[in-house]
Amino acid sequence: MQGRVPAAPESRSDIYNPATGEVSAQLALGGTREVDMAVKAALEAFPGWAATPPHVRARALFRFRDLIERDLDRLAAMITAEHGKVLSDAKGELIRGLEVVEFACGIPQMLKGEFSEQVGNGIDAVSFRQPLGVVAGITPFNFPAMVPMWMFPVALACGNAFILKPSERDPSLANELAALLAKAGLPKGVFQVVHGGKPVVDAILDHPGIEAVSFVGSTPIAEYVHQRGTAAGKRVQALGGAKNHMIVMPDADLDKAVDALMGAAYGSAGERCMAISVAVPVGQATADALVERLAPKVRTLKIGPGTDVEAEMGPLVTREHADKVQGYIDAGVAEGAELVVDGRGLNIQGYEKGFFVGGTLFDKVTPEMRIYREEIFGPVLSVVRTESFDEALGLIDAHEFGNGTALFTRDGDTAQAFLSRVRAGMVGINVPIPVPMAFHSFGGWKRSLFGDHHMHGPEGVRFYTRLKTATLRWPKGIRAGAEFVMPTLK
Ligand code: NAD
Repeated sequence: MQGRVPAAPESRSDIYNPATGEVSAQLALGGTREVDMAVKAALEAFPGWAATPPHVRARALFRFRDLIERDLDRLAAMITAEHGKVLSDAKGELIRGLEVVEFACGIPQMLKGEFSEQVGNGIDAVSFRQPLGVVAGITPFNFPAMVPMWMFPVALACGNAFILKPSERDPSLANELAALLAKAGLPKGVFQVVHGGKPVVDAILDHPGIEAVSFVGSTPIAEYVHQRGTAAGKRVQALGGAKNHMIVMPDADLDKAVDALMGAAYGSAGERCMAISVAVPVGQATADALVERLAPKVRTLKIGPGTDVEAEMGPLVTREHADKVQGYIDAGVAEGAELVVDGRGLNIQGYEKGFFVGGTLFDKVTPEMRIYREEIFGPVLSVVRTESFDEALGLIDAHEFGNGTALFTRDGDTAQAFLSRVRAGMVGINVPIPVPMAFHSFGGWKRSLFGDHHMHGPEGVRFYTRLKTATLRWPKGIRAGAEFVMPTLK
């Protein structure tokens, strides 16, 4: 079995073009049977792939890398057609995914292990890492290329067989990734895609043939996946939701902070786990100046279909999600936040049925409001005014999520204090979206990550391998007779 596992045709879900609101395709949803078929094929493929030398495994990834680069425009268009994000942003996510492939191409270096000579007379010790077996990835809609590519390049390079369960909202790119991996020479069964929703996820979590599960999605599902997967004896890393704060100090370069907030809050229509959704100016004067400069920019955001090269922001992924985001705007108004820019009811000429919500800006948001506590995952930025750096830092510490965060300041001492004290997994100093490079690792703290390992980089290699340590006595070191006490060096 290679690539896509065919699903029983009885259950299907619609796939939309978010810009037009039209159904563009139907997805056949799998279940336990499809997961069983995929695991069987993966178990057959695993021993041969694990025994393939790491540098030979890497060669397939080198070829895969070149194919993605060759097909960049075509793949980006596929992402835009189902997700809705603008084409330049779709290309950006492919390139960030490619960087993980490039990291994985260096796998021989990462798997080198450790060796100690002469730990006893004529005895050496060696530690090295081996692949787990069949592993699975369950991914969200918002990065149909990049998030799967946080996972499978490292898993495959380490010698595992990989089963991908992509989001049912924008599933087509996963099939394309499988086709390109096959073209790059990956043996049959080493990478497979199973489509579906909860029944497929549950079948993956319960299947005794799957050793480890990587998950990225919302916090309630991440927690569920972690609990059910670990209860079934699997290794699980489950990345969840976020509410990322950006503190703006009075000494910050305000123009740069405003530009940073615009991109970080409204890029990809706010459907990013590293989006900034809360701006925290320190001091009333900073807050007044920030809101005054943000408001006209939010009002004049260029919103249109992702295929429009002029557009800065596209539609949301589904009608249901757009309605949910507008419901949060209603809730913010009802709770007394000051609605500075209202994105509700946006109509784009020629795309009247598209799932568009305009850029929205709230001022004077307070920590007890729902729009502050919950992840909206849309183009809605909340400004929470504070009087001091400590008060701003306290907000971040008290929040349920701890994915990313940023501080804008010119002061080194404040920056150092923030870096040292803030409780979040990814920190930016004058950088609004501090997504780690592929050779570092990605992950949040608190209820933004369940499990022990972040994704890709060195943490990814540790997640997808287990350590073996051997003690080696060479023939000349063999002593005469049995020993009945713990061996120690005399
Ligand atoms: P989601 O949780 O709805 O879906 C994620 C995956 O879980 C999908 O494959 C989906 O099919 C599956 N799923 C959905 N409901 C399920 C259920 N009841 N039981 C079992 N499986 C289920 O998330 P989404 O809406 O696709 O993506 C957006 C969310 O992902 C946001 O919360 C965002 O913050 C988060 N996200 C987090 C990161 C991160 O790195 N922390 C990155 C990207 C997205």
